[in-house]
Amino acid sequence: MAILIKGSEIAKQIKQELKDEISNLLINNNIIPGLATILVGEDEASKVYVGAKEKACKELGIYSERINLPADTNESDLLALIEKLNKNSKIHGILVQLPLPKHIHETKVLYAIDPQKDVDAFHPVNVGKLMLGVPDFLPCTPHGIQELLMRTGIETDGAEVVVVGRSNIVGKPIANMLIQKNRKGANATVTICHTGTKDMSFHTKRADILIVAAGKPKTITAEMVKEGVVVIDVGVNRLETGLVGDVDFDGVKEKAKAITPVPGGVGPMTIVMLMKNTVQSAKMHAGLIG
Ligand code: NAP
Repeated sequence: MAILIKGSEIAKQIKQELKDEISNLLINNNIIPGLATILVGEDEASKVYVGAKEKACKELGIYSERINLPADTNESDLLALIEKLNKNSKIHGILVQLPLPKHIHETKVLYAIDPQKDVDAFHPVNVGKLMLGVPDFLPCTPHGIQELLMRTGIETDGAEVVVVGRSNIVGKPIANMLIQKNRKGANATVTICHTGTKDMSFHTKRADILIVAAGKPKTITAEMVKEGVVVIDVGVNRLETGLVGDVDFDGVKEKAKAITPVPGGVGPMTIVMLMKNTVQSAKMHAGLIG
């Protein structure tokens, strides 16, 4: 029977550490980290996500600016706003909530954010730096996964890690982070599975650590994993019965050594890592770190 990797509790610990760091930054350096969130349109889920980010800022003592724009905002107005925020010294992180309305070119908007304020780490400069092993910012969900592993004492060095999913926001970056040589919580041997993978069970059964970000319930069942595996379930699927991950939790927990629940696993870590990146950015802008 698996131990539960409780992301909500680990996220609380990190929040407390950040609170202390933020109050020290104010006392010693007169710095208040600042995050701007931009929401275009009325998407209900996006409103909830932006609201949660704003709440976390308030809780930790981060200055937050929430900018709500109508759904028919034109691309050039949005780009002009980002340019203004790039120059605003009170703002250290700029987050554009996705998805954007269809008439706006998402890539163009994300690329307009100053890479030094790109706390989501989606800009190609930050993607490239991550791949080279010299990141300024780590993308929030993969960073949350790595912290969960490290803070639970799960060894990645030399581990066989299998990642299911190759998205730009979860699968690819977590795989990249875990193969790095001289970084904590890395140095693993990583395999990535996707819909083109011929025999997924062949790979998942070899995993010491299995990270699942497919976006489909029961992508992984008990017969697809080995005894003693550590399972990180990134999936968030809304069913009539409530939220479930991508892993058949009830079956897999009987074989796993440790597993994240959904909800309460990876989810709470993502917002905390956004806060961490905002603090990191404030310190970078003040020249406190290189
Ligand atoms: P995505 O962009 O839809 O990518 C899903 C990936 O999974 C794709 O690479 C796809 O392969 C692969 N895949 C789908 N079904 C598969 C199957 N049956 N076998 C093997 N591979 C399969 O999704 P995402 O943005 O990475 O998100 C994944 C899940 O994580 C979603 O449920 C999302 O809501 C959740 N999520 C949670 C958080 C959080 O904070 N908790 C953050 C981000 C995402 P192809 O490339 O071949 O299509």
